[in-house]
Amino acid sequence: MTDIKIKQIDVFRVDLPYAGGVYTLSGGREYRSFDATIVRVTTDNGLEGWGESTPFGSTYIASHALGVRAGIAEIAPHLIGLDPRRVDRINDTMDAALVGHEHAKTAIDVACWDVFGKSVGLPVCDLLGGRTNVRMPVISSIYMGDPEDMRRRVAEHRAMGYVGHSVKIGGEPAVDAARIAAALADKQPGEFFIVDANGGMLVENALRMLRLLPSGLDFVLEAPCATWRECVSLRRRTNVPIIFDELATSDSSIAQLIGDDAAEGIGLKISKNGGLTKGRRHRDMCLAAGYTVSVQETTGSDIAFAAIVHLGQTVPERNLRCVLESRDMVSVKTADGSYDVVEGRVVAPALPGLGITPRLDVLGQPVARYA
Ligand SMILES: [Mg+2]
Repeated sequence: MTDIKIKQIDVFRVDLPYAGGVYTLSGGREYRSFDATIVRVTTDNGLEGWGESTPFGSTYIASHALGVRAGIAEIAPHLIGLDPRRVDRINDTMDAALVGHEHAKTAIDVACWDVFGKSVGLPVCDLLGGRTNVRMPVISSIYMGDPEDMRRRVAEHRAMGYVGHSVKIGGEPAVDAARIAAALADKQPGEFFIVDANGGMLVENALRMLRLLPSGLDFVLEAPCATWRECVSLRRRTNVPIIFDELATSDSSIAQLIGDDAAEGIGLKISKNGGLTKGRRHRDMCLAAGYTVSVQETTGSDIAFAAIVHLGQTVPERNLRCVLESRDMVSVKTADGSYDVVEGRVVAPALPGLGITPRLDVLGQPVARYA
């Protein structure tokens, strides 16, 4: 194999206004727009790979947009001259240059996989282990609000074809119980619900909320509490299936999750988990544990969605909960590609790499260049 070398890394910045106005989350958090960082990796033989990292503001997890670009400034100079297809070695170099800050590494990592695919004429999902024939269900993101308004927004997404719904809670126990009951009130056969508190509940509140719910509601509870101790404490005293998200970010946290028997699955967000190289390992750890996996992102536009779809396409059907339709959350289109959602389901395209064509007019001029 002849080496190809990273010649240049360009960084673009794009504002992605939230498509639904104001997104509200537990703890009084509000989001109106997201600051996307998009990376282009150019090789000495003229290939270009693309990746995106878009944090969910600066109050969701320990990631923020300025940090993405500052992290890339630390990392990128170390990558010039390396072969982008040796993805584990690229990640070794990134980890040696900067401890943690996985969200900063993600856009570069994904761009390297895009180059890898283009260099051998294969889609990224085939390089990640091979595509399944699953038509993957996309999941909606229903922000926390008035119960009847949440019921209405679930119905809107149902009408668009969504079969999965991520319903956000994390306030007063009685209101949260009403939110869940309202969101599930019109549940159709084959639909599934993730009730997501984004770490916003105390154990006491979660226990009170669960006791207020009508019996027989079919949902899994995601990220009930902010800390590991609280989530495990809640789990010991309830039989509701639990999914980890914000606390499952790394090899060690997922190993501990399995060791503690603390959940039934995870939300694998590509930028939270460090990109496709690390996400691939987290996928395999979860499969070995018999977990379900939701392949998601903190948020993001078309390039982030492409990475979600390619990783999701490698998860066997019985383990794949859903993929997040991140594009539904933002009102700017950054790339084109064959990513149509049909009847609430999506399949990875067969083109080499991610199979996307960035809209250079939307990206504008690079805000940083490393060569
Ligand atoms: Mg979540």
